[in-house]
Amino acid sequence: MRLARYDNGRIGVVTAGGIVDVTDAAGVDPLAWPPIDPTRLVADFDRLRPALERAAAEGTPVPVSQVKLLTPIPWPNKVVAFPVNYHAHGAEMGAGYRATNQGFFLKPNSSLSGAGEPVVLPDLPGREVHHESELGIVIGKTARNVARADWKDYVFGYACLLDMVVRGREERVARKAYDTFCPVGPWITTADEVPDPTALRMRLWVDEELRQDANTKDLVLDIPGMIEMASAVMTLYPGDIIATGTPEGVGPVVAGNKIRIEIDHCGEMIVDVVQGTGGRASMFEEPYQLVKKA
Ligand code: MN
Repeated sequence: MRLARYDNGRIGVVTAGGIVDVTDAAGVDPLAWPPIDPTRLVADFDRLRPALERAAAEGTPVPVSQVKLLTPIPWPNKVVAFPVNYHAHGAEMGAGYRATNQGFFLKPNSSLSGAGEPVVLPDLPGREVHHESELGIVIGKTARNVARADWKDYVFGYACLLDMVVRGREERVARKAYDTFCPVGPWITTADEVPDPTALRMRLWVDEELRQDANTKDLVLDIPGMIEMASAVMTLYPGDIIATGTPEGVGPVVAGNKIRIEIDHCGEMIVDVVQGTGGRASMFEEPYQLVKKA
């Protein structure tokens, strides 16, 4: 099933004919704050699935192009992200470590945005904001000390994810924390519709230029390893999102660009890049430019 969130927070199932509103069957109040109902939907999905399927079959599809796609899970417990998880990206960054021995960091939930929302560049003279094309994993069940062999039991689904970043040497979390720096979408594809997540082609274009073209089979710390490592440290909850790391080919975006990410079985997400007015912070006053090593 392809589960989307759209317009003012409605829940839809994306079918061949378009998006069908299943908000009531999902038990989601679009206007509730904090917006935790989509998180609860993931936790209760097995129970709700028959009602969602019925609503999707009976409802009237609307073309996806006529709705505004939002981030599917706006209020997860956390977004876990793995740095330097493809060897060729490690080489281009000149990084002497990999996710296997470095571990992970967290992106703030407030950085989440959706396919229908632009990436807003902060006003940081002398700095580049880069795209990182990543497979996003949505956790489906409470997970603690998961053994490698059991990883599939804990995955709800997959989505395209952009880990946007201000290049520099400052604290990684701060550079990756701006609002709209974590687009996820265009929807969540449930795990049963992704036959082999360990071998997904993932591509990213900026306007018409192909910048990143990789396959999840080249991950350094693989998907079972990421779930094992993260759940060894902390409890993963339904709705938690894992950004699995970017392959080589990261690069700057500027206002007016369109970023297009496409992952096998997960669909295609296109987000506009616009220039914002705020966001200056003293740690970013020093100019910096990434010089790729390879
Ligand atoms: Mn990343």
